[in-house]
Amino acid sequence: MLSIAHGTTGALIATLIPNPIISTPLILASHFVQDHIPHWDVGQGLTSKKKSKKAAFFQELLLDFPASILLVYLWFPGPSGQINPLAFYGWFIALLPDFIEFPYLFLNLRFPLLNKFAKLHTSIHKSTPNIFKGLWPQALTLLLVYLLK
Ligand SMILES: [Zn+2]
Repeated sequence: MLSIAHGTTGALIATLIPNPIISTPLILASHFVQDHIPHWDVGQGLTSKKKSKKAAFFQELLLDFPASILLVYLWFPGPSGQINPLAFYGWFIALLPDFIEFPYLFLNLRFPLLNKFAKLHTSIHKSTPNIFKGLWPQALTLLLVYLLK
């Protein structure tokens, strides 16, 4: 899914369950559950070569990634309006699987453990080229996070 869906979900879980021993595995699980729901993200079209890695990288870097930071900042303020470390911990853990896979996807880095992880991530990942079908579960996720926060 897009970083905005993963990151805000992670922030929600981390702020609802402040104990990281409990929240961390739940947040990681949320990433894979969300990736298993057919979705559209900036990586759509990479395998079919309809989109270049460069285009996907810049869409992620300039739109989705900063938007995820902004949403977590705006939706999960700290007690006196400053940055909420728990929310950003959740954001980071929720995006960790994608951070780990980043050098595999974009820098062509290969070593056994990373290859295994990328293979597992890909096997769970379900995407759709249909933008409407692929974005509504994420819009629903954002709505639920917004209502539950
Ligand atoms: Zn993922």
